[in-house]
Amino acid sequence: MKVLLTGGAGYIGTHTIIEMDAAGHEVVVVDNFYNSCPEAVKRVEQIIGKKVPLYEADVADEAAMDRIFAEHKIDAVVHFAGYKAVGESVRKPLEYYDNNINSTLSLMRAMKKAGVKKLIFSSSATVYGTPEKCPITEDSPTGNCSNPYGWTKYMIEVILRDYCVSDPDMQVILLRYFNPVGAHKSGMIGENPNGIPNNLMPYITQVAVGKLKELSVFGNDYPTHDGTGVRDFIHVVDLARGHVAALNYDKKGAEVFNLGTGTGYSVLDMVNAFQRVNGVAVPYKIGPRRPGDIATCYADPAKAAQELGWNATHGLDDMVRDSWNWQSKNPKGY
Ligand code: NAD
Ligand code: UDP
Repeated sequence: MKVLLTGGAGYIGTHTIIEMDAAGHEVVVVDNFYNSCPEAVKRVEQIIGKKVPLYEADVADEAAMDRIFAEHKIDAVVHFAGYKAVGESVRKPLEYYDNNINSTLSLMRAMKKAGVKKLIFSSSATVYGTPEKCPITEDSPTGNCSNPYGWTKYMIEVILRDYCVSDPDMQVILLRYFNPVGAHKSGMIGENPNGIPNNLMPYITQVAVGKLKELSVFGNDYPTHDGTGVRDFIHVVDLARGHVAALNYDKKGAEVFNLGTGTGYSVLDMVNAFQRVNGVAVPYKIGPRRPGDIATCYADPAKAAQELGWNATHGLDDMVRDSWNWQSKNPKGY
């Protein structure tokens, strides 16, 4: 298939280009480089040994999207493009609603004109809010999001479901990601946050590389095995392969899948594994809880296994090893 990746220059997008190429698909990328750079795609081209058609454009620019669909006979779109920083979304809600929602609306209009009937959307476990139980199944209640970022994902899911009702030939696959970490085994591409990282793994790697002094562990009084927050960390290469599996899913209408491993690890589990596997120290202190955080969140990934034939194959040691391989080879990022 020929697949358009919006936001394909980003962390998950770049890894997905590689997995799609390996599966025999052709990829086209559109990105406005708000949170990425052309160098990331150049590195992917070195890894796969071929050029990737790359458009610098805003997905909200419908005329630009029309041109891309006119120049390529696209079979499916993976919609990664969006702003994703939870804390920033609280400070800049209008920018988040504007970018995430309007880019999706423009994309859908351009897809409609071009007759493209398959869309895979990057949703998030954040749509579950505070889960009533773990592991979280896809039919768990959604909503009650604790920040504008989460609400944009929730609202886009609603928009895409409504769109499927209006067009019975449409196929929409909503992938709810848990916590992506790790990097391609080459160490040439990886997560490259702007400024001080918000997420745990890039914070750990930047402490390990000496860029940041110490990790602050946000609370050790949660009802978990060691008191620190538990999450379902998933290797980004497994996540990328989830999109390849979703391409082959051909049921019509909107369908939702969790992409997680089904195993929860705590913040201290991650720190300890990182130190053990990589032989590098990660100084940390216990700090207060971060507002809005929940104690425990991990997926039931059985539906993706049964219906997409997809399973995560990378374990904890792979995740911490590959995260460090990328950061230590690229201490300043790209
Ligand atoms: P990322 O920021 O690395 O990639 C997103 C890409 O989209 C960036 O390259 C950015 O420049 C681009 N972009 C943003 N707005 C755009 C626009 N209007 N037009 C064109 N390009 C635009 O993020 P990522 O970690 O690769 O995440 C990809 C998607 O997955 C996002 O939608 C994110 O919300 C979602 N997601 C990520 C996580 C995570 O922890 N990384 C978890 C759940 C869901
Ligand atoms: N966390 C932490 N210190 C940090 C960043 C994160 O202790 O500097 C914890 C956070 O409280 C949560 C877990 O690590 O329990 C994962 O946080 P992250 O922001 O990576 O993902 P989230 O699940 O919140 O989206």
